[in-house]
Amino acid sequence: MFFGGTGDLAYRKLYPSLFNLYRKGNLRTHFAVVGTSRQAMDHEKFRAAVKKSLADSGNRVESKEATDFISHFYYQAHDVTDTAHYAVVKDLLDKLDKKYKLQGNRIFYLSMAPQFFGTIAQDLKTQGLMSDNKDAFNRLVIEKPFGRDYDSAKQLNDALSKSFEEDQIFRIDHYLGKEMIQNIEALRFGNTLVESLWNNRYIDNIQVTLSEKLGVEERASYYDNSGALRDMVQNHIMQIVSLLAMEQPVAFTDTDIRAEKVKALRSLRVYNVADAATNFVRGQYGSINDQPDYRHEDNVPNDSTTETFVAGKLLFDNYRWSGTPFYVRTGKMLADKFTRVDVVFKRPLVDIFAFPQSQSTPLAANVLTIFVEPHAGFSLQLNAKTNDTGFQTEPIKLDYLVDAEKSKETPEPYERLLHDVMKGDGTNFSSWPEVSYAWKFVDQIRRVWDLQEPNFPNYTPHSMGPAAAEELIQRDHREWIYRLNH
Ligand code: NAD
Repeated sequence: MFFGGTGDLAYRKLYPSLFNLYRKGNLRTHFAVVGTSRQAMDHEKFRAAVKKSLADSGNRVESKEATDFISHFYYQAHDVTDTAHYAVVKDLLDKLDKKYKLQGNRIFYLSMAPQFFGTIAQDLKTQGLMSDNKDAFNRLVIEKPFGRDYDSAKQLNDALSKSFEEDQIFRIDHYLGKEMIQNIEALRFGNTLVESLWNNRYIDNIQVTLSEKLGVEERASYYDNSGALRDMVQNHIMQIVSLLAMEQPVAFTDTDIRAEKVKALRSLRVYNVADAATNFVRGQYGSINDQPDYRHEDNVPNDSTTETFVAGKLLFDNYRWSGTPFYVRTGKMLADKFTRVDVVFKRPLVDIFAFPQSQSTPLAANVLTIFVEPHAGFSLQLNAKTNDTGFQTEPIKLDYLVDAEKSKETPEPYERLLHDVMKGDGTNFSSWPEVSYAWKFVDQIRRVWDLQEPNFPNYTPHSMGPAAAEELIQRDHREWIYRLNH
């Protein structure tokens, strides 16, 4: 069932994703979907809204398939803060359980504002909505954000743990549902060529960029309370980095993978005040032409110090990564919308082509790029001889791009993640230890930033952020692989 069943996320992402699972045969007859929210509405009106949501996401809805699917939807008006009223929802769930022979298996998806998560989890238990059939599952799906710092996240987690065990809680990080993020494991652990070089002896640095082209749009009031560090670094970037940094799991299971990610995050260096100030930079976008700066967007205070850009250097104090930094950056109103990882290998220790031929340009570094979006694929930059007389080298690229036909079939992150929840596979969700280590790291940066008034705005829209982000990496005699004129 979906709490917040009439919300933007449910209509735009969750129902269309469920329909895809249905079309592909992952849901058949034994299922019912209950939506709740405060709004009064009968089942038919709700089904009409679900039908519209499927149509809006490009589905043919006049088919028998769509009609059958929608017939499994039910609605119950319900205020999540009204404990006594949970009994009405329970009655509906029990009735549907019998009708569809669900044997007590229940998934509770909290697609609503996080301040309600604790109350709902508590009432689900105390009001008897969780099935008591020992062979059945009760699962709780939680949307982001999971807290706004370590203390609030812990408070929330403590509240959830009163009703649900850790293996019943699925904390969504939709980046973990993306094809190429899941491909990191295949690339690393399926290829000797890659994994044998995946360490500080051969890798000079790793760069993770999550770049957004748009400004805050209609999310301004939420975003201004959060900022790029909390909204993107604590969750998505930390998850990507832990997949890149972890050791090989014993087996390809959620427990083993999570254990390795946690170990990686435990060896992430938590900065002291001085290092936090040097290794992380922030930015806020200015205005361009008739486009307002961040401070003059709707619902943003004119003196907001919220960062719309972050870049930072992460260091792991472990045998594999000591001395190899991970540079990360993310921001709004940047040059383009894309997510990519650039793995920059060390140059050969000796460049034999530099002498005696006096090659004019030194050997380029090998770079393995993982394109996450908008296009999915890899690219490996190698050095080869130029196709002419004499002996010069030039960088060439081996590219693999998922073709357009295949891309169309790629499941949406929410489709994969809903499917994982149904299977009880927690691989692509954030576990509490991961979330807590990520917060402890991020809190330290935040603490330092909160002591100092930033000099905002400090970057031009459609650039790649403030000059400080360039200085951060150039100070280490390195360059961002993705540059504006790339
Ligand atoms: P929304 O505001 O569109 O929907 C919230 C839903 O909660 C509505 O159905 C509303 O009627 C219901 N609701 C509010 N107060 C209630 C109450 N007291 N009792 C019962 N129902 C109540 O929000 P959304 O955009 O759908 O986001 C839902 C969650 O998903 C949030 O945690 C958000 O941070 C997260 N999220 C959303 C998106 C997105 O694209 N919309 C993306 C990532 C994460």
